[in-house]
Amino acid sequence: MSNHLFDLVRDNLPADPAAKTFIETPDGRRYSYADLIARSGAYGNALTALGVRTGDRVAVQVDKSPDVIFLYLGAVRAGAIFLPLNTAYTGPEVAYFLSDAEPALFVCDPAKRDILTEVAANSGVGQVRTLGADGQGTMAQAADAAATDFTDVARGPDELAAILYTSGTTGRSKGAMLSHENLASNTRTLVDVWRFTAEDVLIHALPVFHTHGLFVATNIVLATGATMLFLPRLDAKQILELMPRATTMMGVPTFYTRLLREPGLTRAATAHMRLFISGSAPLLAETHREWQARTGHAILERYGMTETNMSTSNPYEGARIAGTVGYPLPDVALRVVDPETGAALKSGEVGMIEVKGPNVFQGYWRMPEKTASEFKADGFFITGDLGKVDQEGYVHIVGRGKDLIITGGFNVYPKEIETEIDALPGIVESAVIGVPHADFGEGVTAIVVGGAGAPDEAAILSHLEGRLARFKLPKRVLFAEELPRNAMGKVQKNILREAHAQLYR
Ligand code: ATP
Ligand code: MG
Repeated sequence: MSNHLFDLVRDNLPADPAAKTFIETPDGRRYSYADLIARSGAYGNALTALGVRTGDRVAVQVDKSPDVIFLYLGAVRAGAIFLPLNTAYTGPEVAYFLSDAEPALFVCDPAKRDILTEVAANSGVGQVRTLGADGQGTMAQAADAAATDFTDVARGPDELAAILYTSGTTGRSKGAMLSHENLASNTRTLVDVWRFTAEDVLIHALPVFHTHGLFVATNIVLATGATMLFLPRLDAKQILELMPRATTMMGVPTFYTRLLREPGLTRAATAHMRLFISGSAPLLAETHREWQARTGHAILERYGMTETNMSTSNPYEGARIAGTVGYPLPDVALRVVDPETGAALKSGEVGMIEVKGPNVFQGYWRMPEKTASEFKADGFFITGDLGKVDQEGYVHIVGRGKDLIITGGFNVYPKEIETEIDALPGIVESAVIGVPHADFGEGVTAIVVGGAGAPDEAAILSHLEGRLARFKLPKRVLFAEELPRNAMGKVQKNILREAHAQLYR
């Protein structure tokens, strides 16, 4: 038996691994595919020397750098389970993840070593090493000193390669257990549907603690022997400068709205690019249209989640429809069901999205009951997202089940109202939530970010009156400077609901 996930890299290595760039950074560092094999081997040896054994978790909370990728691959090759953590998490938050995951080793930012060593000790984690964005730290030193030859530990398709915590948008993050084949199968499928080849040069400005930047982007590049231009963070100007050398970019919707603010974003500036991909949060149809008008490129929107990797994608060839997430991937079965009865719904009807396929995770880490309640008897995973499939087979995400508003016994989908409000001149964006209400159960409430010349509450309400059924009309329209978002750019409606919980009391 071989190492199932790392075989995907080995089987697709460029003919001359030393001559092909895997990662290039803006400060001019270059790592070839030969470097990748050597450095990940060094991390494999360093981890083994630190006592990391097959099936052990390696928790990592560090700034983005090429070495994080080599550490990820070293952990996979050593048969360990890679467990990246959002760099925004504070000490007490890290304590929760460490006590939940019980890793054999915790790798952290050198600047937070003292505080996090204490956090780790209190969480029962004995070993802490550091890794800095500049490639410094005790973990990097251990790799520097280690031999680069490493024999991959045998791991089969169904064994775990990673535990990835969900973004915590709807509540406490859950650890999604991902097998070698979960990651490998999705990578193979996406390479195919998005037509990735060794010629591709991907602009990578996403964080690497989340499925988008770590698995979707990085694994696709690895599996095709392509190149990534690795930026520490989203920098619209830098991205524009790189486009003439790149072929593809993956981003969350914020990437696209920021780039649209750059006067330099033109057809000429994007002429060398073949594909722009968006996901992790809904892309406004308006952003899709503006992007097409400015650049001539139709953004390809896809849908996925930590638990499933990617499940749907707009087509590479064929119409990429704004406001939809495209078709189910070839190896993914997707259905929309009535959340109450479980009955399959007809096309056009809104219900709970369920998926099944080799991409779907192995369950939530140490939450057997939660896992059991999120899977149907026939193996379908209940995503928690509401949506519909239209006549042409395109999937539309309507919102999260937890964000559905039930007012006076009627279901209200926030997105329908948000779309109406967002279309008004002067409105930047909006979030519609349900807030406890004595008469209605929940009161429909709109939080609006307005720009220059934005209409006021009365004007917004009178605009909506003729367009939406009475029960959908917000009881109040409140204004905010901005909407609360987490690291992946997702609007945190739970924070808004808490903030306005007393509004109708
Ligand atoms: P938690 O599960 O902890 O509340 P989360 O669901 O935000 O957090 P992720 O796994 O990072 O954690 O995000 C997956 C979710 O992101 C999906 O369930 C869906 O709601 C949303 N999402 C992803 N891509 C899209 C998209 N293209 N359009 C709309 N929503 C999307
Ligand atoms: Mg989720």
